[in-house]
Amino acid sequence: MEDKNTTYFGSKVIPVEEKKPRVANIFSSVAGRYDLMNDLMSLGVHRLWKRFFVEKARLKQGDIALDVAGGTGDIAILMAKKVGENGMVVIYDINGEMIEEGRRKCVDRGFLKNIQYVQGDAEDIGFPDNTFHAAAVSFGIRNVTYIEKAFKEMARVTKPGGRVMCLEFSHPTSKLFSRVYDLYSFNILPEIGDIVTGNREAYTYLPESIRKFPIQEELKKMLEGIGLFNVKYYNLFNGIAAVHVGVKV
Ligand code: SAM
Repeated sequence: MEDKNTTYFGSKVIPVEEKKPRVANIFSSVAGRYDLMNDLMSLGVHRLWKRFFVEKARLKQGDIALDVAGGTGDIAILMAKKVGENGMVVIYDINGEMIEEGRRKCVDRGFLKNIQYVQGDAEDIGFPDNTFHAAAVSFGIRNVTYIEKAFKEMARVTKPGGRVMCLEFSHPTSKLFSRVYDLYSFNILPEIGDIVTGNREAYTYLPESIRKFPIQEELKKMLEGIGLFNVKYYNLFNGIAAVHVGVKV
């Protein structure tokens, strides 16, 4: 049972203070292969999900947006196209290696001016209140120790009327589909992860942490509970992933 001194790392209960270093080890070790692994394990579908997600931010030219746990920058790149040369997107991530991979990719793709990189913790975002037109977290919130705290921080730094958004693996809505998905994620995924990244633990942690993540309705309630308005969610691919969007009052 979880108490306030322990937390989940996948399906293991560990002391709270061990979670951040363990998550850091995972992303430091897979950073160089992270993008390849995303394409392999989702057969490229994560790209479509990310496009759908960024559309929901309703960003305009000149806006300022935050990509929390932004890692290798997929969301930031899509946002940067929306906000244009006069706008700005910040990739905010706790892990230096992931940020470096992101910086390399953004520069390669020609985003030299309108993407910035800041290293920091989602639970304590180093920006003033009401800074961004949207704050988004994609496949990152599951790794954070105190999820609600991170969402409160995202809401704090978002301007009134701006959007707080989450794209995350979620819970399939059909039982049959759920069985097939379990078979894939607990048996095949760790094998692919081992071959591609050499880190089987990272891709064992992934399905375990997904199972521990709040179901769609619970996450919606959490976002409402921190004061967001008009919270909606969209299931993607039978609920394998879900997009949650709320508006800062
Ligand atoms: N957002 C990217 C995407 O959609 O592909 C990367 C997601 S990757 C699965 C998770 C990211 O969360 C990693 O880059 C990791 O360093 C970052 N992360 C984990 N814990 C964090 C925290 N407490 N604060 C900020 N970033 C964190």
